[in-house]
Amino acid sequence: MNQKHLSIALAGNPNSGKTTIFNNMTGTRQKVGNWPGVTVEKKEGNVKKFGYDLKIIDLPGTYSLTPFTIEEIIARDFVLEERPDVVIDIIDASNLERSLYLATQFREIDCKVLFALNMADVSRSRGFKIDDKKLSELLDVPVVFTVGNKNQGIDTLLEKAIELAESSYEIPQKRRVNYSKDIENSISSLKSFLENWTQGSIPYNTRWTAIKLLEDDKIVKKRVLNKAGENSREILQQAQTHRNFLVDRFDDDPEIVMTDERYGFIAGIIKEVLTTSTKQRIDISRNIDLVLTNRFLGFPIFIFFIWAMFQLTFSLGAYPMEWIDMGVTFVSKSLAHVLPNTLFKDFLLNGVIAGVGSVAIFLPNILILFFCIALFEDTGYMSRAAFLMDKIMHLIGLHGKSFIPMLMGFGCNVPAIMASRTLESEKDRTLTILITPFMSCSAKLPVYIVLAGAFFGARAGTVIFGIYLAGIILSIVTGRLFRSTLLRGADAPFVMELPPYRAPMIKSLLIHMWDRGKIFLKKMGGVILVGSVVVWTLSAFPNNISYSLDYNSKIAEVKASYRAEIETARESDKKLLAKQLDIEVAELIKAKKAEKAEKSFMGRIGKVLAPVFAPIGIDWRGSIALLTGFVAKEIVVSTMGILYVADETGDSSALKNALLSSGMTPLGALAMMVFVLLYMPCLATVAAIRRETGSFKWMIFSVVYSTSLAWSVAFCIYQGGTLLLA
Ligand code: GDP
Ligand code: MG
Repeated sequence: MNQKHLSIALAGNPNSGKTTIFNNMTGTRQKVGNWPGVTVEKKEGNVKKFGYDLKIIDLPGTYSLTPFTIEEIIARDFVLEERPDVVIDIIDASNLERSLYLATQFREIDCKVLFALNMADVSRSRGFKIDDKKLSELLDVPVVFTVGNKNQGIDTLLEKAIELAESSYEIPQKRRVNYSKDIENSISSLKSFLENWTQGSIPYNTRWTAIKLLEDDKIVKKRVLNKAGENSREILQQAQTHRNFLVDRFDDDPEIVMTDERYGFIAGIIKEVLTTSTKQRIDISRNIDLVLTNRFLGFPIFIFFIWAMFQLTFSLGAYPMEWIDMGVTFVSKSLAHVLPNTLFKDFLLNGVIAGVGSVAIFLPNILILFFCIALFEDTGYMSRAAFLMDKIMHLIGLHGKSFIPMLMGFGCNVPAIMASRTLESEKDRTLTILITPFMSCSAKLPVYIVLAGAFFGARAGTVIFGIYLAGIILSIVTGRLFRSTLLRGADAPFVMELPPYRAPMIKSLLIHMWDRGKIFLKKMGGVILVGSVVVWTLSAFPNNISYSLDYNSKIAEVKASYRAEIETARESDKKLLAKQLDIEVAELIKAKKAEKAEKSFMGRIGKVLAPVFAPIGIDWRGSIALLTGFVAKEIVVSTMGILYVADETGDSSALKNALLSSGMTPLGALAMMVFVLLYMPCLATVAAIRRETGSFKWMIFSVVYSTSLAWSVAFCIYQGGTLLLA
């Protein structure tokens, strides 16, 4: 079949429903990657519909097309440079005024655009009535009503998009913002200047280019310099002359005047197309906000939500965790039964299954955590959290916006560090990047669950909550310290957007949860598997150790002596003796394994490290676990699974028991948890820090600072605690 290809880009404000509509259109055929050169997520999907092969692209959410944020630059560049056949602007119909700003800007670029009036349900329930025909007429754009989360109107939207793509469409000259006379004069004179001097070497609409030059748009200026060749200086000169003239005329920057005029234009449209019923429903969002962002209640409620999230993660997660645990144990035991005793068996059971299995059981916990974070995002609570944190963030000299990357850090530090891109000031960005790793990521959770579960029993949930809280507090302390020393400066002012609350859609929550859970699974098959194998290899070799004791003959000896004793013993004592025999043999086997581990390569490395970790109550096995955690934090658990657990079943209760009998104290466990919380970020995060700060210096600084802090805090806890308890 010879199908026609069309590319359709979805643009719109954040939270307008782009991703929901994108998911509806593409179903499961999505490709998630990054925009070239930057790390903003790019979603792309192909669908065959109405005899066309459609490529759908989910652009980053933006409020305008001015190049102030990376999202805006990406969205604009995509439309200008990649030239999709159609752009669908997803408009939040319940917030028409704000959405139309972007819409009018699309009207100025010469691209084929149509509007999806999404959130039609919300808009209706608020008593808004939008005259879509009028809107379509006023801006000369096709308009379709949609309800993204109910999949309503999406097919019509696609049909109209295809129709528009196929039409020979004249860019209308009239239906767009008309600026005041002086500005229009400058635009048209600059426009004809451009037409004369560039001879089509600039591939953008000339009116638009003229407007951008008057707005002093850095990127467009650079493009003109690059593309217009020798005349480019002349053009920029001309633009500057016009700008100077306008500044003089309006006593203000042209970009500000033009923004005002665009809003004027929008106000006019609103008047024409929007009618509000007099009995407008009381704004639910505002009422909810009276409570959730209340000066006194807001913060305790926020802390409660976070606490509840961890309780849920821990207690609800315990059930599926047990099932997976049982499964792993079953597989491990059956294999132990059927496989002959070879090195391969040891590798499979103690390397692969013990390593990967000890991490796999945390999948439910991690999925629950991601589900909760998705819930915060989709309901709109996330930005309230940022709003609430604004005051506290100001203590560090950052604003609430920086809290979003930090909150995302609870999931994974890598996207969190990328999310700091939305901050405009470089110092704010660097500071946020430096403190984000103290937000305990989900990979560290398994470590806490094992240690707190083993040593703190029923209070484990609270202890873990405390660890997270400690991370938040230390990031604030660090932030304050750096703000007053290394990164002096004031925070940039901004307005925190508070989108309306929305009932979350299960499908979108699940997609968000799964998107992130997938990363965890990939890690399990990749870096954790490799890490486990390396750890096993280092602990299984050299395998020709000379033991301090000939354990095998000692075992045979013990068995023989007991057997003799049992034979002559009274009937009633036989059972007891048999039991004693089992215990003694088990002790010997354990001692042999311990000696083997100690004399392995791993043991030797551990012995070198041990003096460093001894003051914080961690033995050589723990030291190695922490070392391997640099690759990925989950590996800490799998390494412990391999090093501590001496029997072959490799289930998590075995690890807990082994830890309890390893000589580790609750205080040592606490010190280890705090160390894991604070010490150097994992490989992927370190790479992200390097990329986002653009400097090796900050990367190394971050590693050194966090590791020293981790050691010092763990030292205080362990030594202080030991003194107190003594
Ligand atoms: P994006 O930021 O533009 O990608 O927005 P999302 O697609 O993530 O949507 C934000 C939230 O709005 C999600 O919770 C959606 O379920 C919800 N949503 C999307 N479309 C509609 C709609 O038409 N009506 C209602 N009530 N909610 C919607
Ligand atoms: Mg989205």
